[in-house]
Amino acid sequence: MSARHTGIGMTSQRTRLRMVERLREAGIQDEQVLAAMAEIPRHIFVDEALAHRAYEDIALPIGFGQTISTPLVVARMLELVRGARSLGKVLEIGTGCGYQAAVLSRLAREVYSVERISPLLMKARVRLRELRIANVRLKHADGHFGLKEFAPFDAIVMAAAASHVPDALLEQLAEGGRLIMPLGTREQYLTLVEHTDQEFSYKTLEEVRFVPLLPGAQK
Ligand code: SAH
Repeated sequence: MSARHTGIGMTSQRTRLRMVERLREAGIQDEQVLAAMAEIPRHIFVDEALAHRAYEDIALPIGFGQTISTPLVVARMLELVRGARSLGKVLEIGTGCGYQAAVLSRLAREVYSVERISPLLMKARVRLRELRIANVRLKHADGHFGLKEFAPFDAIVMAAAASHVPDALLEQLAEGGRLIMPLGTREQYLTLVEHTDQEFSYKTLEEVRFVPLLPGAQK
């Protein structure tokens, strides 16, 4: 392990467990999500200068004008999209720093995560390797199109906001599958889409604030 992992050592483990207690108090009940978040070190996914704030319930900048969601929003999205199921293949749109993908690696057999900003993806790749996470595959691509070659997915998590659900993502959602995303542009609401009996049902939940889903993969 690098000095970065052992550096704040036990302190960060304790801080992480306190974060999990706060998530529980805020209403997160899924024990598997809580266990995954107790395990994955959030501080290694942000710049060292911000590492000491990594376990607070705040969004943090990750470069390129992007942000990592608050721990509560990550927990909430994963609890909803998991729906107490054991997950096979999962697709994440918007890898960012790779934190949510790392948490997902503990909840699903295979995780595919797509990011349009190549340098972010490269950093995420290094961090996942440092943590020896082997069931996450990262792709540099425009998430609007999903990842047809690996579909269908039991769950799709979108970490960027859009005014509608991209058609490709609905097509790639397995029967019985669930998709979670921030829907809307000026006002965004966490929205859960369920694919059952060849239909899609939508549930609108709390208001949230995410960066927008942008078109095209950037160099
Ligand atoms: N899950 C991330 C949160 C990242 S923020 C984490 O744990 O850090 C949202 C990310 O979505 C940003 O990195 C942004 O570049 C990416 N994004 C925006 N539009 C996209 C698109 N069309 N395809 C893929 N990624 C996109």
